[in-house]
Amino acid sequence: MKKNTGIVWLRNDFRILKNDALIYATQNHDHVCAFYILKKKDFIKRSAQLWWLYHSLKNFKKQLNQFNINLEIVEANSYKEIFEKIINKKNFSIYWNKVYEPDFLLFDMKFSNVLKLKKINFKIFKGNLLNEAHEIKKNDNTPYKVFTPFWRTAEKYYLDKGFSKEQKIKISKKKITFLDQSINLEPILPKKKWHDTFEKFWNPSEETALENIKYFIKNSLSDYGNSRDIPSIEGTSKISPYLAFGQIHVETIWEECQKIKIKNNGYRKYINEIGWREFSHSLINYFPEMLKGNLRKDFDDFPWQENKKHLIAWKKGMTGYPIVDAGMRELYETGWMHNRVRMVTASFLVKHLRIHWQEGEKYFRDCLLDFNEANNIAGWQWVAGCGADAAPYFRIFNPILQGERFDPLGEYVKKWIPELSNVPKKFIHKPWEVAQDVKNFEIGKNYPKPIVKHEEARNAALKAFKSLKK
Ligand SMILES: Cc1cc2nc3c(=O)[nH]c(=O)nc-3n(C[C@H](O)[C@H](O)[C@H](O)COP(=O)(O)OP(=O)(O)OC[C@H]3O[C@@H](n4cnc5c(N)ncnc54)[C@H](O)[C@@H]3O)c2cc1C
Repeated sequence: MKKNTGIVWLRNDFRILKNDALIYATQNHDHVCAFYILKKKDFIKRSAQLWWLYHSLKNFKKQLNQFNINLEIVEANSYKEIFEKIINKKNFSIYWNKVYEPDFLLFDMKFSNVLKLKKINFKIFKGNLLNEAHEIKKNDNTPYKVFTPFWRTAEKYYLDKGFSKEQKIKISKKKITFLDQSINLEPILPKKKWHDTFEKFWNPSEETALENIKYFIKNSLSDYGNSRDIPSIEGTSKISPYLAFGQIHVETIWEECQKIKIKNNGYRKYINEIGWREFSHSLINYFPEMLKGNLRKDFDDFPWQENKKHLIAWKKGMTGYPIVDAGMRELYETGWMHNRVRMVTASFLVKHLRIHWQEGEKYFRDCLLDFNEANNIAGWQWVAGCGADAAPYFRIFNPILQGERFDPLGEYVKKWIPELSNVPKKFIHKPWEVAQDVKNFEIGKNYPKPIVKHEEARNAALKAFKSLKK
């Protein structure tokens, strides 16, 4: 008979496969119970993710039931509130996987000390990265700020460690409750029902994550090098929300990729993107100040503009630049946006409109199902030029040329902006130049004129950037 009860604290790890804390608990205890602490205030500015969370909890609860494991969902204003109750209980051990954000790691450290003092058995496991967030450093013991050497070291380090043997979850002897205050899930869903469309695109479950990644690797990975930049096709894996909530572990993605025989350019590019995710997590943990402001301090004096009208036009997909507007509408409707278009829309906000990247970061945080603190902050600072290994501020995407290059037939734009469906291909990325009569289309009437002129906005951005160097 194994001793006492094992409890597992779930955060963003709604999976059975490679869920080290859960697997360890089932292998070492007859009775296992899992719990999730819902801090509603954490989701106030992450509305889309509340939809994903609701479905994740519902689906994972069912999945755990098959292993005789109860998933208790408790609501609290702080983790402390629940842990104060937990530490007064007897005869249990507690386990969880790490979340690689500075606040979470700090909590782990503080709470471990309390558990040690109380003589409560606990174990914290590696989270959803290939390497630990603080594992990769330069020879001189300082963190990397440039991607290529970071990833060269990190990939080798991961490969040298070798893959750990897959452990299997065991069925708990009987279903038990531990905290005994589980809440009803329905109120978790945001009141505003814009998310009803999400169901058409997503199914937040571990099973779907696995199916999708296998399908992508079989059918699209080899061409990823070319197709990943074309927003009108399904050229990327769309695995990001599943990764954000841990329906899949990045090691599983890695291992699935290793199964293919011919490792061409598509494979290499995809693995490198996984590397960017590792890099972002390394950055925010070595430089947590990034979470609050510019990594490059010279950007602290940048003359950002405050312009509510422009910000609203950007959010609503009404800037008059089709590729930007299509991206913003895709985001609102599906909770996801193609990476190429994320770069174009973000660049438009911080360069053409000169609105602070933090405004954009906040809006993406609220609308993205895959929002992830590390990737979003690093992504925005990369575009704005104030991050690590960032795109130089003076390299300004031309939204017309970006559209013509990556959506030459206007398929993506027409999908998200039906007002432009009759606009001829030649003008699809500059509809203000349409000279002839086009059915159901009148610029300034059913689709806006550009809110800023590209050349003027570009020059103003360059001037603002120059002012920094003085
Ligand atoms: C302004 C901006 C904000 C972003 N915000 C987020 C965010 O909140 N959450 C998020 O997961 N990604 C973010 N990204 C990165 C990237 O756009 C998404 O990871 C990608 O579009 C997800 O789609 P996918 O799963 O089909 O990607 P794929 O192309 O299939 O790539 C596979 C995985 O690699 C990782 N990855 C790919 N590109 C990047 C990248 N540039 N940086 C870091 N990791 C990457 C992701 O985990 C992704 O799921 C942002 C990028 C920009 C420019």
